[in-house]
Amino acid sequence: MSGDGSQYVGQQILGAGLVIAIDGPSGAGKSTIARLSAAELGTNFLDTGAMYRALTWYALRQGADLNDPSALAMLAYSIPMQVEAFAHAPRILIEGRDVTRLLRGEEVNRAVSQVSAVPGVREQMIARQRQIIQAAKASGRGIVAEGRDITTVVAPDADVKILLTASPQVREQRRARQQGAGSDSVAARDFADSQVNNFTTPAPGVELLDSSDLDEQETMEAVVAIVGRAFQARQG
Ligand code: C5P
Repeated sequence: MSGDGSQYVGQQILGAGLVIAIDGPSGAGKSTIARLSAAELGTNFLDTGAMYRALTWYALRQGADLNDPSALAMLAYSIPMQVEAFAHAPRILIEGRDVTRLLRGEEVNRAVSQVSAVPGVREQMIARQRQIIQAAKASGRGIVAEGRDITTVVAPDADVKILLTASPQVREQRRARQQGAGSDSVAARDFADSQVNNFTTPAPGVELLDSSDLDEQETMEAVVAIVGRAFQARQG
């Protein structure tokens, strides 16, 4: 694979503190691919969707009025949420309780787009995400962060920026296969989310990766190759 940059990954990027941003629609496989890539590269991993889901889960549990943007923004500010951004075992804790496995149910699927569309909510979540990314960068460990607005808003100066897509049919199939997921209308959620962020066309400097015909391993390898090339270019 000489020439595709893959010889630069692994040992060579350790300590480089690379920030790798991946955006895309739901069902494109972002979470899995970002986590596998982070494990392969030895970096941290941040699933920003899980943060919006955790906030939504908490809001529902607190009986918050989802039609009240200030109440939601306040909750986003005060939520006692701890994000553990390790690729081998990413976790979200609320009031010290691990809620990671509770975030993919139907109730959260239905409400998350409404909660995450609130500007005050995004402001708080983006600030927390930037802190996590900065800490990983400063430690030299680096991070793969995925979501809808990482390449454009959260970390537009990331070292590597990728838009991961797949055809609508493939995305529906992948979501349906996901274990433990409640029923989820990917198309409806994408439509609502696309009113807030553009994650269907790559912004300048963002590399498009279509995974429709690739399996997980192949997609992860494609990401790692892109990172390798970027690292190679950075080294001059
Ligand atoms: O990626 P996932 O499907 O888990 O994201 C759940 C929801 O979180 C999305 O439907 C979207 O409403 C919101 N989200 C967001 N910005 C991000 C990541 C996720 O608004 N960066």
